Amino acid sequence: MCAMITRTMQPVQTISLSAADDGSVSEQSWQSQLSGAIRDPKALLAAVGLDERWLTGAEGGHQSFEVRVPQAYLSRIQKGDPADPLLRQVLPLEAETQTVAGYVNDPLEEADHIPAAGLIHKYATRVLMITSGACAINCRYCFRRHFPYEDHAASRAQWSKTLDYLRDDDSLIEAILSGGDPLVSSDARLAWLVGELDAIPHLKRLRLHTRLPVVIPDRVDDTMLAWLSNTRLQKVMVLHINHAHEIDDSVIRACEKLKSAGVTLLNQSVLLRGVNDSVDILRALSERLFEAGILPYYLHVLDPVAGAAHFDVPDHEAQQLHEALRDRLPGFLLPRLVREVPGEKAKTSVQVYPTSQASF
Ligand code: SF4
Repeated sequence: MCAMITRTMQPVQTISLSAADDGSVSEQSWQSQLSGAIRDPKALLAAVGLDERWLTGAEGGHQSFEVRVPQAYLSRIQKGDPADPLLRQVLPLEAETQTVAGYVNDPLEEADHIPAAGLIHKYATRVLMITSGACAINCRYCFRRHFPYEDHAASRAQWSKTLDYLRDDDSLIEAILSGGDPLVSSDARLAWLVGELDAIPHLKRLRLHTRLPVVIPDRVDDTMLAWLSNTRLQKVMVLHINHAHEIDDSVIRACEKLKSAGVTLLNQSVLLRGVNDSVDILRALSERLFEAGILPYYLHVLDPVAGAAHFDVPDHEAQQLHEALRDRLPGFLLPRLVREVPGEKAKTSVQVYPTSQASF
């Protein structure tokens, strides 16, 4: 594994970005919003109304994992508030540059489960395909912030090997498109790939792990909905939303379109210090998700990735929060509190003491 690799974008249509005064970007193509995302700490601070006292820390974190924030997401950030929960997810801090024991570049040891370039096979019945090495947004806590995507750039020849792997293993029933963010890829490429998967008889499900419908809702357009609607595979989209403020009307409209294309919508969140580490915030998130037609699925504790230790919420506190959340929500709105343990065959429930002893 290479350390400290800064991601490179896939080629996208280049159109200059100029947000309207009200922050609206709906007149621009998703490609232009993607290519026009803020990628400079100084520009980010200016856009959110913070002064240059934050610059040294921001530039330090940016060195190992570059800033990337699209305008549509930026427009939901409260200007002038360094504690804004959406800003906290994208603004590099000096803490990222500190070495903390136990925080490593590959916390899930994924390098041990890569049978072919671009393919991660950790769990029975399903494989994860690194469909793109880029994201529309760079989340500071991302467990793949040091993943060597450049070693897994997918050429047609590599995809051919990956697809052969799927064809040869009839125990597989689900293909997961991940990344990076798979929806950064062009629709032509995704339509081809999904067509290939569709033709593998033992596959039943297509799952996409993506943040794009949240951070650039215009990504959900007619071209995308066409290839999604055409496949015989059952479709599941696992979104990634950590705070209710991320869900505005444009996200709700995108979710409605996805549901009309037969997509089941789930959400996974990461429990993050300073973002969503309170019962009220987590409850509001579950309620808002359901308003958008999304079921809460997982609440992950932080994976110990180098540069993200300042987001950590200890297990005992995570469990207390989850217990309190259980008392305030119907069961179908309660996400499972989990962590990913290297070598385990599935997500592991976080439980540090019997639930009857929990209090908050
Ligand atoms: S969108 Fe997902 S993969 Fe991309 S940086 Fe954020 S958490 Fe990581």
